Amino acid sequence: MLTVLITAGPTREKIDPVRFISNYSTGTFGYEIARQAAKRRGVRVILISGPTTLPAPRHVRLIQVESAKEMAGAVKREAKRSDLVIMAAAVSDWRARSPKKSKTKRRGHAHKTLELVENPDILRSLGHRKGRVLVGFALETGNLERNALKKLKEKNLDFIVANRLTPKKTVFGPGRTNIMMIDRSGDRTVLRGCTKKELAKIILDKAFNINI
Ligand code: C5P
Repeated sequence: MLTVLITAGPTREKIDPVRFISNYSTGTFGYEIARQAAKRRGVRVILISGPTTLPAPRHVRLIQVESAKEMAGAVKREAKRSDLVIMAAAVSDWRARSPKKSKTKRRGHAHKTLELVENPDILRSLGHRKGRVLVGFALETGNLERNALKKLKEKNLDFIVANRLTPKKTVFGPGRTNIMMIDRSGDRTVLRGCTKKELAKIILDKAFNINI
């Protein structure tokens, strides 16, 4: 059996018991990849997900987490036994330095500063290991190709799936989208106007084609 580990969705970083920092990720892409992977013969799928409203895909072991730190812990544990890791989650790069124990009150200050500290880069910390294929995602607002290439190298990935934020934010959620895949040999594949289901299958085909 091949074990495929997929991360999906946003993370939530607590500011106080009722507030958090997060992003627009819905988890759609990661869940679709998990669903398509689970349909393949001889594949065991583990899905580590931040908070989403999506139903759990069938025949997938779903591990729900909230923060980037929790996601990092779960990935570290599960990656050991995984042959392929696809990090589709939109992990928050920052968290509040000192989340408050009780709800922060408005106290007549016109300004308030929130101090942030960097979260661990989960994908980067996994590193390249023989026999394990690593796939990352990159959502960019500009310089798509250059930034994606930089991440591919820095995070030591086998390939990266890059997409651009459009004004209507259609990259999030169930709509059609465009991606560019770049691999270690510099090969680029551009796919336009595809459903995430179609893209999930193509991404999995490419990942399985790399010698696992
Ligand atoms: O945040 P960035 O654009 O660098 O993320 C690109 C890739 O790295 C994505 O696959 C994302 O899931 C992963 N990532 C991560 N840990 C973080 C931030 C991003 O694994 N703290």
